[in-house]
Formats: sequence, structure tokens, C-alpha cells
Amino acid sequence: MIRADLPRNTFLRFSSVISSCLLLLILCWCPAMSAEEDFVDCETCLAQKPTEPLASDCCGTGCNPCVFDLHETELAAWRKSCNRCHVGGAQTEHREPAENKHQTSSYQDAFSPDEYRSFKLQSAKRVSHDSVIYTFVLPGNSQVNLGVGQHIILRGAVNGRSITRQYTPISPPGTRNHFEVLIKIYKDGSMSQYIKQWKEGDSIEWRGPYGTFSYQPNQCRRVVMLAAGTGITPMLQVIRHIVTDDNDETFVHLVYASRRYEDILLREKLNELTAFWNFTVLYALSQDVPGEHPTSYGENFHYGRIKQDLLAAEMETSPEAETQFLVCGTKSFDKDMMNFLKKLDFKGSVFKF
Ligand SMILES: Cc1cc2nc3c(=O)[nH]c(=O)nc-3n(C[C@H](O)[C@H](O)[C@H](O)COP(=O)(O)OP(=O)(O)OC[C@H]3O[C@@H](n4cnc5c(N)ncnc54)[C@H](O)[C@@H]3O)c2cc1C
Repeated sequence: MIRADLPRNTFLRFSSVISSCLLLLILCWCPAMSAEEDFVDCETCLAQKPTEPLASDCCGTGCNPCVFDLHETELAAWRKSCNRCHVGGAQTEHREPAENKHQTSSYQDAFSPDEYRSFKLQSAKRVSHDSVIYTFVLPGNSQVNLGVGQHIILRGAVNGRSITRQYTPISPPGTRNHFEVLIKIYKDGSMSQYIKQWKEGDSIEWRGPYGTFSYQPNQCRRVVMLAAGTGITPMLQVIRHIVTDDNDETFVHLVYASRRYEDILLREKLNELTAFWNFTVLYALSQDVPGEHPTSYGENFHYGRIKQDLLAAEMETSPEAETQFLVCGTKSFDKDMMNFLKKLDFKGSVFKF
């Protein structure tokens, strides 16, 4: 019996030692495997350090958030994920699967304020001697995600230098398949040199949306818009936003400055919008004279530059407290309008895009 039990006990002891060793091996191997995976993640993470923007990436007009603020946020997120790698927690963190984003809305935001995205140029249509409407393709499942009056930033390269400029899409928020920007090409403008070289099919980088303009329906009785040239682009968004809202009873009056009749941008679109009861437009032509330019039914004109007396007349139309002025044009146009309103001691609300 004793002799017979001995080998069995030995076998049992032997197999228990083997299983303990196996267990130990497994225990040692698992953390090694997990550490290796963490190591791979750390490497990936370290390689993803956000690149610091160049000074030229900042357009200098006080965007909120600015490219440097975004860089700080990206750096903080990067540091956090690298720290997680070092403490070995990267594997356990819960990440929302990318597909889940599609479940809440079937269309994704076309633009991101955090990164430049490339969009293919579909077409370019000249609409005046110096302005062009550029149409860009949107990926199938995305839409224009702009708030009213917001703009996007274009990044281009001129003489090996990266530059940025703001532009306001004229396609309404929620547009799918494409978006449009109306751009004035300056003979000696920096970004204009880059834009002039665009060809259909080129990939162009945009980031956004940005802008601090906020609008509440019926917040005032009358909005008076003072626009010049491509300053019409944010105004078009605001006009459409107001007149297509049945619950908004705000009256919108646009005073739009151009040199000549043929320079009036988006004239047909604006004329169409006058079909709404609460929108009127006055075209201010600085270089045309009455009767010497074509005209369409219902169009109203002011001849000469927009001066203080014109604004004084606008101020008399509705009480100061119920009037809001919106201003968007060139730097000198904006300066003149703001000075006139100041001289007229206008105490209502004024927003300069
Ligand atoms: C919120 C916002 C939205 C905008 N939306 C639009 C839009 O929808 N469409 C649009 O066309 N534009 C828009 N703009 C204007 C646009 O961002 C650019 O400023 C414009 O396209 C000119 O860019 P550029 O680089 O070609 O010209 P720039 O190089 O900036 O030059 C423009 C003009 O200024 C002159 N100039 C340049 N520097 C000087 C200087 N130091 N002294 C004197 N003159 C000088 C140039 O000779 C030229 O005539 C918007 C601007 C803002 C702030």
C-alpha cells in the first residue's frame, strides 16, 4: 500500500508543482503582454503630439477659440492620454465607438473648429468683375454646420508661407452635398494670389465655424444692415434666418453699398427675398447716376456714398431701443459707419462682423 501510494503522491506533488509553475508563467506573461500593448499605445500617443501652430496660422482678428487656444486644449488632451499610457490605464478607458456618433444624427458636421479639413473644389462661377462663387463638395454624410452669421477659416500657402483668412459661406446651414463661398479677388491680396490658382478638383483646407454673433427672434423690432461688397455674406445668412422663421416678426432693412449696379453681389437672391413681408433693400451706388444703369422691378436706389444723414433717417424709422444695426464691409466702411452711429449718439445695439 505504502509503496503503491508513494508514486501516486509523488505524481500528485509533481503535477501540483507543474500547475503552480504554469499559473506563475501565465501570471508573469499577462502583465508582460499588457505592458507591451501599453508600450505600443504610448508610442502611438507620443507620436501624436499636436503640432504648434505657426504665428501665420493666427488670423489676428480675435477668433474664439484662437488657433493657439485650440493648441493648448489639444496639448492638454495629449498629455492626459500619455499619462494614462504610463499608468497602464489606456486599455480600460471607455471609448465611444465612432459609429455611435452617427446614431444621434445621420449627418455629421462638415467643419471642425479643431482641425483643418480638405474639401474638393467643384466649380467656380464669376459673378462680377472681381468676385467669384466657389462651390465645394461635402462628403456624402455631412452638412454645413454654421450658426447664423458665422464664418470659416481658409488656410493657403503663398510663397511657401502659410496664411489664413475668414470667409462666410452663403449656403444655408444644414445644406448637404456642397457649400458655397463668395470671394472677392484682390489684385494684390495675399490670399487672392492663392485662390486665383485654384483648379476644379483641388483640395482646399477649411476650419470652423467661428463667430460671436448671436441672434434671438423678436429681440428687437427692426434690424438695419449696413453692408458693402462681400460684407453681404453674413447679412444674407441673417436675412434668410429671420424671414424664413414664421414666428419672428423682426423687420429687416438692408442698405447695401456697391460702386455700380453691376457690382451688386447676390442681387437676384436679395430681390427674391424681398418677397417676404419683413425684408426691404436699398442699393447704394457710389459711382452710378440715375437712369444710366439697368434695373429690375421693385429695386430701390440711393446714389452716392452712405453718409450720416442716411443713417439718421434710418434711426427715425423705429425707436432706438427697438433697433439693431449690423455692420459689415471693408475696414474703412466699418470705421465710417461706426463713427456715424457714434456721432448720432445711437444708444441701441450695434454689431460689427
Ligand atoms: C468675419 C469675416 C468674414 C469674411 N467673409 C468674407 C467673404 O465671405 N468673402 C470675401 O470675399 N471676404 C470675406 N472676408 C474678408 C477676407 O477674410 C479677406 O480679408 C479678403 O479676402 C482679402 O484677403 P487677401 O489676402 O486676398 O487680401 P489682403 O492681402 O488682406 O489685402 C486686401 C486689400 O487690402 C490691401 N492691403 C493689404 N495690406 C495693406 C496695408 N498694410 N495697407 C493698406 N492696404 C493694404 C490690399 O492692397 C488689398 O487691396 C471676411 C472677413 C471677415 C473678418
